[in-house]
Amino acid sequence: MEDISKNLETVHGRIEKAAQNCGRDPGEIILCAVSKTRSPEEVNTAIDAGVTDIGENKVQEIMDKYDDIKPVRWHLIGHLQTNKVKYIIDKVDMIHSVDSMKLAKEIDKRAKAHDLTMDILVQINPAQEESKFGVSIDDAGDLVREILDNCENIRIKGLMSVAPIAEDPRDVKPYFDGVKAKYDELAKIEHPNLDLKYLSMGMSHDFEVAIEAGSNLVRVGSAIFGERDYELYRQQQAEKKAKQEENK
Ligand SMILES: *Cc1c(COP(=O)(O)O)cnc(C)c1O
Repeated sequence: MEDISKNLETVHGRIEKAAQNCGRDPGEIILCAVSKTRSPEEVNTAIDAGVTDIGENKVQEIMDKYDDIKPVRWHLIGHLQTNKVKYIIDKVDMIHSVDSMKLAKEIDKRAKAHDLTMDILVQINPAQEESKFGVSIDDAGDLVREILDNCENIRIKGLMSVAPIAEDPRDVKPYFDGVKAKYDELAKIEHPNLDLKYLSMGMSHDFEVAIEAGSNLVRVGSAIFGERDYELYRQQQAEKKAKQEENK
C-alpha cells in the first residue's frame, strides 16, 4: 500500500525545490493529482491530505468515480471524443485537451445548453508525435483565434502539453520552452474570452524541467499514487459491475 500523504510531501518538496532553483514562487504552481485507475478511497485520501485538483484522462473514469469523491476541482486531461462531451460538461472545471474546432464547437454547444462557460486549455503536441493528440505549435494560434471567434461559451485559460518520453527529462526542455514561447505570444491577444493563466506541463518524471520552463500546473499521477496497474484496475471494474448486476 502506497503512503499517499508521504508521497505528496515528497512531490511538494520536489516542486518547491524546482521552483526555487529557477527563482520562482512555489506557491504559484498548482498540483493536479492524476487519479486514473485509482479507487475513490485512494483519491479521497489524497484530498484529505490537501489535494485540491484531480485530473482524469477518461470520461468513463470520471463518470465511475464522480459521486464517490469529495468536493474537488476536476480536470479532464486526456483525449475527449465529441460524443462524450455531454457526459462531463457539468462535472469538470477545466478541459485540458482541446485540439480541434470540431471539439471546441461541441463543448461550446453543450456549455450553452447548461448555461455555463467552460474553461479550456488548447493541447499542443510540440514534437508532432503520431502517438499523441494536440495541435502543432505553428497551428495553435489559428485554433485559438477560431475558438475565440466562434465559441461564446468557452474561455481559453492556457495551453497544455505532454512532452515526448525521454530517459533524461532534460532532453525535452526545448519542447516545453517552445510551448511557453507560444503561450507568451498568445497572451498578447486581447479578447474577453481569453484569460491566459495556466500552462499545464509536466508529469511525474519531468515536472521539474517543466517548472523550469514556466509551467504552473503540473499533472502528477504515479509519484503520488504509485505505479499504475491497469490489469488490476480492469479486474476491479469487472467485479464492481458484477456486484451491481447482482443488486439489480
Ligand atoms: C497519466 C497522465 C499524467 C500523469 O502521469 P504520471 O507519469 O503518472 O505522473 C499526466 N498527464 C496526462 C495527460 C496523463 O494521461
